[in-house]
Amino acid sequence: MKYQKPKGTMDILPGSSAKWQYIEDTARKVFGEYNFRELRTPIFEHFEVVARSVGETTDIVTKEMYDFYDKGERHITLRPEGTAPLVRSYVENKLFGPEYVNPFKGYYMGPMFRYERPQAGRLRQFHQIGVEVIGSKNPATDVETMAMALAFYQQLGVSHVKLVINTLGNKESRMRYRDALITYLETVEEQLSEDSKRRLHQNPLRVLDSKDKKDKVIVEKAPSILDYLDEYSATFFNEVKGMLDALNIPYVVDHRMVRGLDYYNHTVFEIMSEAKGFGGVLTTICAGGRYDGLISEFGGPIEKDTGFGFALGIERALIAIEAEGKEIPVDESIDVYVACMDQLGNVLAQAVAQSARHAGLICERDVDFRKLKAQFRTANRLGAKLVVVIGDNEVEEQRVVIKDMEKGTEEKIAVSDLDNYFKNYIN
Ligand code: ATP
Ligand code: MG
Repeated sequence: MKYQKPKGTMDILPGSSAKWQYIEDTARKVFGEYNFRELRTPIFEHFEVVARSVGETTDIVTKEMYDFYDKGERHITLRPEGTAPLVRSYVENKLFGPEYVNPFKGYYMGPMFRYERPQAGRLRQFHQIGVEVIGSKNPATDVETMAMALAFYQQLGVSHVKLVINTLGNKESRMRYRDALITYLETVEEQLSEDSKRRLHQNPLRVLDSKDKKDKVIVEKAPSILDYLDEYSATFFNEVKGMLDALNIPYVVDHRMVRGLDYYNHTVFEIMSEAKGFGGVLTTICAGGRYDGLISEFGGPIEKDTGFGFALGIERALIAIEAEGKEIPVDESIDVYVACMDQLGNVLAQAVAQSARHAGLICERDVDFRKLKAQFRTANRLGAKLVVVIGDNEVEEQRVVIKDMEKGTEEKIAVSDLDNYFKNYIN
């Protein structure tokens, strides 16, 4: 019997995990500068939490959910995204209370689950970092949060990116646009792909998002949402654009860009990577937008019923970095290697290693009592700066030999002085 990981998942192994930590640390640092705090919600939720907010007719809910009934007959799903869980948590824990500053600013990171057809950069268990701002109807929030997403990629050295924005307007604007879009699409219904035919009446905005070649041509001639905005929606979008201009943040408006989740309105955006390494195709590495109305749907207070957030895939961030030929700085070298020549030195080797670690040094010790030459090779491979050698004499004299690998010098140190020696070394 040979066991393998489930399709669409991956093991993140040593070496690679350091890169993941670097990306996560970068997010914590950048988001911290904008005063965001981390939330950790469960990996599974009640099915309805996700289905109702993401939308019953979306691909995520109809095709991609990892849902099941647990032993108590509860309808559960592994979370496919982070916004619904975070808003659920915000309302359930009353994070809108007077002790919290408005707006509420939270971020999350962790695995998400979607039953998709696995491809490069598309997995069934993938990892997102996301943020949500709840309680601000100021377009400055949209702009600031998009700027933060760009700052994150910049910090990672990803610079060939394009910010694409659009507005979906408020509900009234969208309804009027929806009607106009249906009217147009009905005139070309026969030429649409099967998927788009189905979407036409269920969720017509999704037709704009179709990846089908023929659909794309048809969509070129579709009416634009920008012609259906009411005054509030139009003004809001103009303010967003004006503030992006004021911050000198380049962007393009794509009036056909819609997002695959139902809760969005007003500003939506994507950050696309233009790096050649993605095979020449523009790839979305971050996406998000405004979701006014979602908080009250979860039972939250009406005066906090505005939200803005984004999510980015860690897998795709890694691909983007590589696609630009950038390296993540990873230093996994150690400080001290304790070489031990035979069983007699076993206990002393352990004490020496612990002394180094207590001083704050990264330390590894030999456990196989191999030939000294082999142990030095290991020390070199691990990048050790100091090697402590323990043979029979050292045990007897209670003095160890310490070789400084950088300077090439060697000295004998009494075991009783080791704690001090390591502490001084670190300074
Ligand atoms: P796509 O159009 O690529 O399917 P999406 O609209 O489903 O993306 P969102 O739900 O908005 O994506 O998620 C935001 C980000 O999460 C995406 O831009 C991408 O970086 C990442 N992401 C989404 N689905 C996956 C997946 N199955 N595997 C890896 N990363 C993903
Ligand atoms: Mg998708």
